Amino acid sequence: MPTVADLIRNSDHPAFSFELLPPLKGNSISKVFNTIDKLREFNPLYINITSHRDEVVYKPNEQGIKVPHVYRKRPGTVAVAASIQHKYRIPVVPHMICSGFTRSETEYALIDLNFLGIHDLLLLRGDNSERHNFFKPEDDGNQYAIDLIHQVNNLNQGRFLDGTSMEPFETPFSYGVAGYPEKHEEAPSLDEDIAHLKAKVDAGAEYIITQMFFDNSRFFDFVKKCREAGITVPIVPGLKPINYLSQIKVLPDIFKTVFPKALMMELKKCNSNEEVAKVGTAWAVQQSKELLSNGFNLIHFYSMMATKCVYDIAKQVY
Ligand code: FAD
Repeated sequence: MPTVADLIRNSDHPAFSFELLPPLKGNSISKVFNTIDKLREFNPLYINITSHRDEVVYKPNEQGIKVPHVYRKRPGTVAVAASIQHKYRIPVVPHMICSGFTRSETEYALIDLNFLGIHDLLLLRGDNSERHNFFKPEDDGNQYAIDLIHQVNNLNQGRFLDGTSMEPFETPFSYGVAGYPEKHEEAPSLDEDIAHLKAKVDAGAEYIITQMFFDNSRFFDFVKKCREAGITVPIVPGLKPINYLSQIKVLPDIFKTVFPKALMMELKKCNSNEEVAKVGTAWAVQQSKELLSNGFNLIHFYSMMATKCVYDIAKQVY
């Protein structure tokens, strides 16, 4: 079976992938399936499933006073990936993160994934906990994505964390990593960020998926800089259709991305989520067409809460 990295390397016609979140704790998987049912008409090349650390959630106690609880609001990445692969036979890419996981927990998840026949991963550091101003790994957790890469490489070579060895897995894990056209927020400069990205590729990452961006020229500059730095693996652009009024402020704040003036002007005229979704969809269609015409055959969509937009984009682009 080809790996997802093979599919990306050989994608010689317009194609797309998208990202799904595991359901909120206590919810059924049906929403996940509904999204796939809607989008599979366009033959997605593969589907990513995000991974989430624990979070602080405030809930009222018996006296009605809100008290903090720490738990994973979206557990189940491995199981959701397996059920999608089983039900739809579409390749899945579960995300593995350092954040909130010990290295032992990661090892157990990798063993589960191997038994389930899932060998494509996206390896990431993961988001910060709201409890800290800076990234803090678990005791015995991985600090950077590259540390997670080393752990996966060790397992691929038949070495467990405790030093015991095993027969190497029949199918080794193959993986991609994240890249940031507008620089990761903690990196002092784009050049330094790209140097760390190159280290991840040199360690074994076979492709890069980018953070969302709304200005293609920033993506093209980033790809040029990556190539100049000696990164030769495929770079898959990540697009997010804007579809809520609140995202006009939230997306630039959280993802440190700049909205081009022309997009901002159109968004400012919007008074409802429906109007925003129209503008966001049209913008993403325009971005997609320009990317495709510049040889980027594969586009990754951040489809969270935007299934209809991704459907409308796919209808116009694929
Ligand atoms: P890293 O590659 O570890 O980089 C983090 C920062 O450290 C960067 O500033 C980098 O320049 C710097 N750095 C890297 N290596 C070193 C080093 N050796 N020494 C010093 N500095 C270094 N988050 C989730 O929690 N769950 C998800 O499912 C998820 N999916 C994502 C999917 C995509 C496609 C993208 C783009 C992001 C995703 N994220 C997810 C968010 C991501 O986890 C955060 O952006 C995180 O802050 C950085 O992750 P990374 O893997 O790029 O980290």
